[in-house]
Amino acid sequence: VVWNLEKAANWAKDILQKADVATFGLDADVLLAHAINRPRRFVFTYPDYQIPLENLEVFQKLIFRRAKREPIHYILNNREFWSLEFFVNSNVLIPRPETEHLIDHFLELARSQKNEQRSLEVLDIGVGSGNISIAVLKELPLVKVTAIDISEDALEVAKRNAKNHDVLNRIQFCLGDLFPKGDLFPDQFDFVLSNPPYIASSEFDSLEPEITCFEPKVALISGKTGLEVYERLISETLLRLKFGGYLILEIGDGQLEQIKNLIDQSGEFAEVFTVFDYAGKPRTISARRKING
Ligand code: GLN
Repeated sequence: VVWNLEKAANWAKDILQKADVATFGLDADVLLAHAINRPRRFVFTYPDYQIPLENLEVFQKLIFRRAKREPIHYILNNREFWSLEFFVNSNVLIPRPETEHLIDHFLELARSQKNEQRSLEVLDIGVGSGNISIAVLKELPLVKVTAIDISEDALEVAKRNAKNHDVLNRIQFCLGDLFPKGDLFPDQFDFVLSNPPYIASSEFDSLEPEITCFEPKVALISGKTGLEVYERLISETLLRLKFGGYLILEIGDGQLEQIKNLIDQSGEFAEVFTVFDYAGKPRTISARRKING
């Protein structure tokens, strides 16, 4: 039997809809285009195009994976962030568009530094796919980044992306739990950036299966309250952040007041600033380390 594009698309939409995939139509078309190595518009323009058997088999496998709720970005091994393409697999969190607020805010602060020509040292904690580090390096040609992750497999992905984006010469990778240890790395940083795990273990099961069954738990779950990693980050950052340097964090829903309290309690920060996302939710918080400790 030979299937044309229209038939294949309808078959797939039906399967994905029955599997409760909210974006069933879009995903079917994207995976179909991918399976035949054509742009998506080809699928709409040539509904009668007969799919070679080989490609049809590939397509069906992709659809069965998606029907099990595997995220489409893992199936395609690709996710766009900050208009850059990132290789992703199940060892790394899929970059989220909300995290672009952190980049925006960082750039604003970095560009307002008195001497923006000087090479800023940036620490990215929980590098994952490398999205934050690489966006930063692409925007500011003098910046150097130290990127840390607790997962060796995640570091492999970040290195691959750094190579693809030609920034390997300005990034140093480090395996570890929050702050880098050892003298290979700068003593002190101008910026500490992080999109840390911030989900409470009790909330985890209520999330979509794309997240709970496929994304790395270590990148998502913080502990009982969801604030555990922030507590450590805020206190330990003092060992590594320059006076006058900035800590910039992505924050979860409903965590703003508690995180502000943690920052205030340390007594070390001033100029606390909150960035809201397009839905009006607090998304990113920055705090500047006091100059005189
Ligand atoms: N920095 C990566 C991101 O923002 C990974 C974050 C993480 O693993 N918690 O997507």
